[in-house]
Amino acid sequence: MSFSASVLTLYPEMFPGALGVSLAGRALEAGTWSLEAIQIRDFASDRHRTVDDTPAGGGAGMVMRADVLAKAIDHISPAGDSRPRLLMSPRGKPLTQVRVRELAAGPGVVIVCGRFEGVDQRVIDTRGLEEISIGDFILSGGEPAALVLLDAVVRLLPGVMGNVVSGDEESFENGLLEHPHYTRPQEFEGRQIPKVLTSGNHKKIAAWRRAESERLTRERRPDLLAAHPLVK
Ligand code: SAH
Repeated sequence: MSFSASVLTLYPEMFPGALGVSLAGRALEAGTWSLEAIQIRDFASDRHRTVDDTPAGGGAGMVMRADVLAKAIDHISPAGDSRPRLLMSPRGKPLTQVRVRELAAGPGVVIVCGRFEGVDQRVIDTRGLEEISIGDFILSGGEPAALVLLDAVVRLLPGVMGNVVSGDEESFENGLLEHPHYTRPQEFEGRQIPKVLTSGNHKKIAAWRRAESERLTRERRPDLLAAHPLVK
């Protein structure tokens, strides 16, 4: 059974977008995963197909209505659907590689993309939406965040990445940032490739890479080191 993604959005034309090319696009064509983008507006019941309304209590902007969104969710993810239901949200738990791995190991995802000021709290509560953030900044809508999440998940699906090994050595996979990379030419604008990398001594190369990983992590992301007490 392939990984199945359903995205609820007011802009279905944004999908597959960037996920239609390269690795993800080929995997989509090959049926390694499937993607449907559902127009939330199709579940509105009034003549104007209204999906939003003014915030209770006043204030700027609009809020996505609970009833319309719930109808869309129930249609696409009826009781018994084992896929997690995610809501892209700056208020959510920050997305991590650990969560990405868990999602990739599962049957798929249902993703709700917010717009305006966000969605009515009651649909989050009653439909068990897991709020996920892609960082401490505000997007104009959940769609780019959904594309980011799916990109990270899809590349981990079996058979999507040609070189399976490279996945294990990447930033975050061992709690560290990745070491620097070099390739030909040997000299670029007067700068040489570090000698150790062309020495052929695999033990020394591994030690150099490890040391560089730790140095970069210490400089740039001390928070990662704190979370991984194995690395000093
Ligand atoms: N008023 C909200 C921001 C709404 S932005 C607040 O202050 O929290 C509109 C929509 O964009 C959100 O509903 C969400 O779906 C999406 N979005 C914005 N920033 C995001 C982020 N960092 N991660 C994930 N989704 C985000």
